[in-house]
Amino acid sequence: MPIDATKPYDDQNIFAKILRGEIPSQRVYEDEWAVAFHDINAQSPIHILVIPRGPYVSWDDFSAKGSDAEIAGFIRAVGKIARDAGLVVPGYRLLANTGRQSGQEVPHFHVHILAGQPLGPMLA
Ligand code: 5GP
Repeated sequence: MPIDATKPYDDQNIFAKILRGEIPSQRVYEDEWAVAFHDINAQSPIHILVIPRGPYVSWDDFSAKGSDAEIAGFIRAVGKIARDAGLVVPGYRLLANTGRQSGQEVPHFHVHILAGQPLGPMLA
């Protein structure tokens, strides 16, 4: 069920539990600002989710309320993860579903890194 991106943060969401280590994930990166792990239902050969450590429901929430340090730290982490995975030359896609019509399911802001094959049209 897609989420309502205007709802307050729910600290029982699945990514909050992954952040706290309450449920397992295949982590590929972590630093002061961000944690990244493989998507459990990969949509491409490489499908990594990057989440901020802070409690933000969506891109809208994060971009409005995140501190400059959190936003800069998070964006730099996304770039580093893609570079370290060797994705710059073949190319990759970033995606951040936001709210109901986007299909966002998990109410903790996350960026999808999709790569590993030609990705096709944007709305496919
Ligand atoms: P959204 O649709 O909210 O943009 O993306 C949520 C993503 O989280 C989906 O691609 C889904 O496969 C992934 N996901 C949902 N539950 C889990 C989980 O427990 N572990 C991991 N690693 N990914 C999950």
